[in-house]
Amino acid sequence: MQELNPLNYRIHLEPDLARFKFDGTCEILLDAPQTVSEVTLNILELAIWSCRLRQGDGFVNCPFTANPDREEVRVILPEPTSGKIRLIIDYQGLINDKMAGFYRSKYTVEGQTRFIAVTQFEESDARRAFPCMDHPAQKATFDIKIDIDNQLVAISNGAVKKEDRLDNGKKRVTFAQTPKMSTYLVFFGVGEFEFTRDEKDSRVRVATLPGMKKYAQFGVEFGRKSLGFSETYYAIDYPLPKMDLIAIPDFAFGAMENWSAITFRENLLLHYPEITSKFGEERICEVIAHEIAHQWFGNLVTPSDWRYLWLNESFATYFGFGVVDYYYPKWDTWQQFLNGQTGSALVRDALHETFAIEIPGGEHVVINASTAPIIYNKGGSILRQIEGYIGKDNFQKGLQHYLKTYEYGCADSQHLWQSFETVTQQPISAMMKSWIEQPGFPLITARRQDRRLILTQRRFTYLPNDFDQKWLVPITISLFPKTGATRQLTFLLNKIEQEIDLDADILAYKINDQQTGFYRTQYVDTANMQELGARVLEKSIPPEDRWGLENDFFALVQSGASTLQDYLKFLSFYQKEDAYLPLTSMAHNLYSAYLVMDERWRQKISSLATPRYEDILGKIGYDPVSGENHTTSHLRDQLIWDAVRYGSKPALEFAGSQFAALIRGAAVHADIMKSVMQVGALCGADKTFDWFDRRLRESKIEHARLNMLSAMGCFRDEALIIKSLRYTLDTVPARNKFIPVVAMASNIYAIPLLWDWYVNNLAEIEQFHPMLYERVIAAIVPVAGIRRADEVKTFFNNYLKKSDTAKDVIKLSLERLEINLRMRNALY
Ligand SMILES: [Zn+2]
Repeated sequence: MQELNPLNYRIHLEPDLARFKFDGTCEILLDAPQTVSEVTLNILELAIWSCRLRQGDGFVNCPFTANPDREEVRVILPEPTSGKIRLIIDYQGLINDKMAGFYRSKYTVEGQTRFIAVTQFEESDARRAFPCMDHPAQKATFDIKIDIDNQLVAISNGAVKKEDRLDNGKKRVTFAQTPKMSTYLVFFGVGEFEFTRDEKDSRVRVATLPGMKKYAQFGVEFGRKSLGFSETYYAIDYPLPKMDLIAIPDFAFGAMENWSAITFRENLLLHYPEITSKFGEERICEVIAHEIAHQWFGNLVTPSDWRYLWLNESFATYFGFGVVDYYYPKWDTWQQFLNGQTGSALVRDALHETFAIEIPGGEHVVINASTAPIIYNKGGSILRQIEGYIGKDNFQKGLQHYLKTYEYGCADSQHLWQSFETVTQQPISAMMKSWIEQPGFPLITARRQDRRLILTQRRFTYLPNDFDQKWLVPITISLFPKTGATRQLTFLLNKIEQEIDLDADILAYKINDQQTGFYRTQYVDTANMQELGARVLEKSIPPEDRWGLENDFFALVQSGASTLQDYLKFLSFYQKEDAYLPLTSMAHNLYSAYLVMDERWRQKISSLATPRYEDILGKIGYDPVSGENHTTSHLRDQLIWDAVRYGSKPALEFAGSQFAALIRGAAVHADIMKSVMQVGALCGADKTFDWFDRRLRESKIEHARLNMLSAMGCFRDEALIIKSLRYTLDTVPARNKFIPVVAMASNIYAIPLLWDWYVNNLAEIEQFHPMLYERVIAAIVPVAGIRRADEVKTFFNNYLKKSDTAKDVIKLSLERLEINLRMRNALY
């Protein structure tokens, strides 16, 4: 690596929103501690006109060669130089439509199409907008100015320092210098932005496009709350004078934490009264809190390399939920965390095709459909485990120490352990390493022999493995004596096998109290399972534990260690279950088994589920009730749709009549809109399709469009499914093309058509944004491949010989397919 440190970039841009090009000048101040004769910078799809070296008041032209494969330009200096080097590069780039680099995003005002130009740089697309040393550790300050049309607004990381009128009728917007920061966090955007400023904290603003300002209030308020929480909890003030939250129509990810210029998908920032569901509202809060946590975890203290990306994403995930829970304790946010984050991470990480949270290997560690569940969901879950182990106070103090020590600099995993060790005086490095540096997680098997409880650990995967791995597992066991109160036993399991003495009066034990630990449990003795089942039935153990028992059981079925028959039998203990967490998990697992298994099993599942769901819906009511728990409202939307799919008449009658009313122009409650539209599509005909098409064209509200696009994956009629797949490719905007397809991957009528659709339209589908393309593969392959396994495997064998595109996701999807095939073919 060249010994060069960037100190400052002066970037001057002239975007042309009619021709989708921009002219740029980038003046880079570098420090060369030793003599260098050339400078290598990253560029991608930039045309370089000239490179000059500033010498005194003059310039010397420098020869240069671009190497597109390496995404680099090599600038030859006139003579070997050390110390400060100032290079000025003139270039031109594209305002592309790839949702990466400097790109355009489309919106309409009064039927007229208009464009904004914005940036998305993580993790290595800043090079599409200016020549730079594009690595997170190469921090520098940035001075940015942009020439734009008078009626437009420009936003960047710094506050606007001044605006000057230019002779050509334009204006030049100059931004204040940024703090020392990484290239991937730079942002600039140009468009007809309007601001909504928070009344209590004038630093916080939401930027929207014309017509959207009325939806900004909710986001701006929660932005202020998140900022307030962060400054107090981390004990470091936010260093910039403004915090912009910017709603962008076309956006590949959910949001991006550019320092003080955070970008969002519209539905994750804008709140549409009467249209945004409670779930949508929670997502908005969670995503805002996530991005604002990044202003410390990532922006202030940056991973010294992409392999430590978890230091950004795991913390942002964790605090995304933590901040919401702090302000809205009644939303059961941590239960939703267990379901959505921990639960999905346990599923993802039980594949052979997984990797450590601290990602090994290359300089390009991309956030994709394969890595995200590990570095976001698993990482966040491990933080919850650490907090449980060292205590809330120590956790907070450790983080404050870490952030203060490395502010404006970089850190790696061990710096975090050292901070925890400094404040706790406990040797926790070894424990942390076992979770961060190795892939997978353990299955704890518990056997009781009289008064001894024997625990063993080995790596859990769905497919057989002979991995030789060990974790330091913080374990808490709830012990249920014959008489008296439940007791807790806490210790660190640091061996493969460990024995614990139990008192004679212990009737039952539940491992992983409240499911704070990131592992699964298998109980060998059936007597204990029966005892625990009885406690599930009488709901004398908390919902988290009832969830853990159900969720682990289903994972054991998928691995072949238990049978589907036994799992269904165990569910009889959940007859009176009314808590969100175990019910949502049960509904999800039952439906995933339903998708995989043959008709005989489908009958069994639907005859078990239908009366249960009808009973629950009868109790909570089909219609949303004002003031009810958020989780009740999530559950209703899920169970209505599931019940209809299993053939429930009352559920169909209710949702069907709601949809009929909707078509007539009546209002449907936001909290059941998703299921009502899904049922509408399921029973729909041609005119239903046309209705969705018309509504999609007319609607300006992303939350509503997403509901409709999910519904468009739910048709039963084959002709409509085919029409909908064509519509997805032709009409649905790039950012949302994956949505109907993912919905079809859980539609038993669409699944048989998906593989041919994928193969026949491959060239078009490969043009999706890389992450969205991966989502399509991950959704289709494990289910659509069940009846065509050989064909699918052969296809991808050849595919992977030709290219690396989506390699990780293809491999993990094939593994999921294998797991499904084993489950389907298991003899019960
Ligand atoms: Zn993030």
